Amino acid sequence: MKKILLGLFLVVSSLVFAKDTILVQGAMDIEVDYLVKSLTDAKKEQIGAWTFWKGKIGEKDVVVSQTEVGITNGAAATTIGIMKYNPTLIINQGTAGGHDPKLHAGDIVLAKDIINIGAFRTEFKDYGVPSDQKDFIFFDVVQRIKDANGNKLENKTFSSDSKMLETAMKVPYKNGKVVEGTIGTADQWNRELERIKLLHETYNTSAEEMETVAAAQVSKAFNIPFMGIRILSNSEHNREDFNPETATWCQEFTVDFIKSLK
Ligand code: SAH
Repeated sequence: MKKILLGLFLVVSSLVFAKDTILVQGAMDIEVDYLVKSLTDAKKEQIGAWTFWKGKIGEKDVVVSQTEVGITNGAAATTIGIMKYNPTLIINQGTAGGHDPKLHAGDIVLAKDIINIGAFRTEFKDYGVPSDQKDFIFFDVVQRIKDANGNKLENKTFSSDSKMLETAMKVPYKNGKVVEGTIGTADQWNRELERIKLLHETYNTSAEEMETVAAAQVSKAFNIPFMGIRILSNSEHNREDFNPETATWCQEFTVDFIKSLK
């Protein structure tokens, strides 16, 4: 009887005292350095090629994860972060290139929608028929997986948690606008204005970068709420070259967002 009561106590207390852990990601050194500096009691852990810093922001348990650049790195770092730290929220943040001409370097896009802009197929064309990016056809399904019961899960696009979006919209920010929009991810850095225009018209993208869809897709597969925050660091439309300072502004916004969470 004593043993049963003790067992019951342990189960109940672990439910009551289970603490939230926020996994917050950035790709490059300049996209994680301010986050790491913001941690108290930080402990660095290295798993394979991926670095994590476990600590606190205020009262909250936070793990900063350096994903490194690109989709494969993004997916691997997210999977390891989930398996190791059991996060209750995953935030992917960092720099991006503008697709929407109305947005400028320093503006922040909260990722209402997230799309893999590299996921396309082409219809048959014979030798001698030139390739034309206007003929690229977006995948019907980007994510095709099964849950534990064998039910098919299919996703074409991904999104941030709607409550998190609402909260993030209220965070004060002084270096530009904060808008909800669509983030397009691929292992691509596009500078051709005709291509950027086509991507923007096809997918309604606000900005492009190289990790968000990977983190969102893996988060979805584990049913963990996701939030994407991207700052424009460059915009070809507006002839604005990569400004590294924006990476710090995005982290400052992210820290304020984390502090604003209940
Ligand atoms: N020019 C920098 C960036 C290199 S890699 C350098 O040479 O160090 C690109 C990283 O920045 C990726 O992690 C990606 O998410 C982000 N990024 C910023 N602007 C981008 C753009 N216009 N297209 C694609 N990725 C972009």
